[in-house]
Amino acid sequence: MENSLKTLLAKNNVALKKAYGQNFLTDENLLAKIVEKAGIGSGDTVLEIGCGAGALTKELAKKAKTVIGYEIDKRLEPVLSETLAEFSNVRIIYKDIMREKIADVEKMLGGEYKLVANLPYYITTPIVMNFIENSSLLTSMSIMVQEEVADRFAANPASSDYGAITVAINLRGTAKTVFKVPREKFTPVPNVDSAVVKIDMEKDKFRGADLNAVRDCVRAGFSSRRKMLVNNLINGLKLTRGQAETALTAAGISLTARGETLSAEDYIRLSDSVKQVKNG
Ligand code: SAM
Repeated sequence: MENSLKTLLAKNNVALKKAYGQNFLTDENLLAKIVEKAGIGSGDTVLEIGCGAGALTKELAKKAKTVIGYEIDKRLEPVLSETLAEFSNVRIIYKDIMREKIADVEKMLGGEYKLVANLPYYITTPIVMNFIENSSLLTSMSIMVQEEVADRFAANPASSDYGAITVAINLRGTAKTVFKVPREKFTPVPNVDSAVVKIDMEKDKFRGADLNAVRDCVRAGFSSRRKMLVNNLINGLKLTRGQAETALTAAGISLTARGETLSAEDYIRLSDSVKQVKNG
């Protein structure tokens, strides 16, 4: 299979570009496992980001109702046409996903959808953050990411991997590492191992919460890991010491706590009490 990828690329004069994060998968069992763990069935609309030579796209097309794929590299068009020739339920859009508005993408998808992708590593975090913060019809994300990034997404409060992105994910859903993938599974072999993470989005998880205000609080809370939360709130949210202490006490959070020990629920309570302190 690896040889057939090389032949296909050579035939179309495509040399893989490092700058686009072009490390492709060829192991059919692994690709089928990704699709299975993503829970793709015949009623599903799937958004794939970064189709490459179409190995994952093909496995998705076998199971899903519709697959819409984004691929930045137009040189891959003849390759993808060949790989996907037998499928009529796939459409590839040759555009940079980073330049798309999620609302426009969702309008095109026309209803609920699952995101499945072997993400380009150089933009994993911005892509995930964009969908986490701005999607409204996304039900789950099953994404191949660097192993260290997977650890961050699924970390527990107070652990060294826990960060602002973990809280951002927990505000909308739950992340779990599904399985690890050694670097040798990719062509060319990258410098890091990978893992598939599944983020299940929970509709109305924190219904009624002002998530934009909570995100401001999270940003402030993680702005300096060496400082206590109270000081990060003073600097990040322009509060007086008195206001910051009142807000923490009202939210039931210790005045000596650090931002990285708080759960998503803690940040929601804290954001509410910051709002009250500012208004009152
Ligand atoms: N899905 C294929 C696979 O699993 O073998 C390829 C995955 S490869 C890690 C990432 C793919 O994303 C590459 O084909 C790359 O050209 C594409 N890509 C990189 N940046 C992109 C962007 N901003 N928008 C859309 N696709 C992008």
